[in-house]
Amino acid sequence: MASVSVPACTSALLLDIEGTTTPITFVKDILFPYIREHLEDHLSTHWEEDECKQDVHLLKKQIEEDMRQNRACPVHEVDQTVHTDEEKAIREVVDNVLWQMAADRKSTALKCLQGHMWRVAYSSGRIKGEVYQDVIPSIRTWRSLGMKVYIYSSGSVEAQKLLFGYSVEGNVLELFDGHFDTNIGAKVESKSYEKIAERIGCPAEEVTFLTDVSREAKAAEEAGMNVVVVVRPGNMELTDEERATYDLITSFSQLQLTARA
Ligand SMILES: [Mg+2]
Repeated sequence: MASVSVPACTSALLLDIEGTTTPITFVKDILFPYIREHLEDHLSTHWEEDECKQDVHLLKKQIEEDMRQNRACPVHEVDQTVHTDEEKAIREVVDNVLWQMAADRKSTALKCLQGHMWRVAYSSGRIKGEVYQDVIPSIRTWRSLGMKVYIYSSGSVEAQKLLFGYSVEGNVLELFDGHFDTNIGAKVESKSYEKIAERIGCPAEEVTFLTDVSREAKAAEEAGMNVVVVVRPGNMELTDEERATYDLITSFSQLQLTARA
């Protein structure tokens, strides 16, 4: 694939994570299975600690809310292997978390517990944040040309910082000037990109957004950003029309930037 030049006025790069800096399968094949496999152990180990108590408290409130809304919740069956009240309480939380994950729920309660578990996993070295080989060297080059580099992902800012703080290339957080998640708005809304441009103090026209998802590309473009679509193994196939509409790269190294004066 040929190189793609970004407009000479570009002063900032905004990067998506899944399908752009990182294999789209990382969350599905590494992060989520980690939760399913270590959930019971995590709860048993940390049950008496404040953070874990707070996570469980949030999950219980979510369960009450779900019952009120008549959402299908797992019915807890009497389990003969469970004896103490603590074991029973842990089993209930495990059942609920697995049910929420199977239903692809995005509740705050679920995200909090997952975030705390991943922090343990990353900091102990059991998980390393995956980034494609071309990503870090390219970002270093862009920075040497005077570019600012930001992340915008639907994963929480905390999760983003874990991924890059404990990445396969070590702690690379210093390469980023800021992080955005869906607290600023949905990734398919052009308003979100307007807000990001405002927040980083840079006209949208000076920002180049890299993503694998055409609906996000369209939203960023509507906000005035320059957009390049990243094609990685396992990403959603683009339509012929999308291929014709956007500049495409398969590696960050294909991006041609002009140094800032
Ligand atoms: Mg993506």
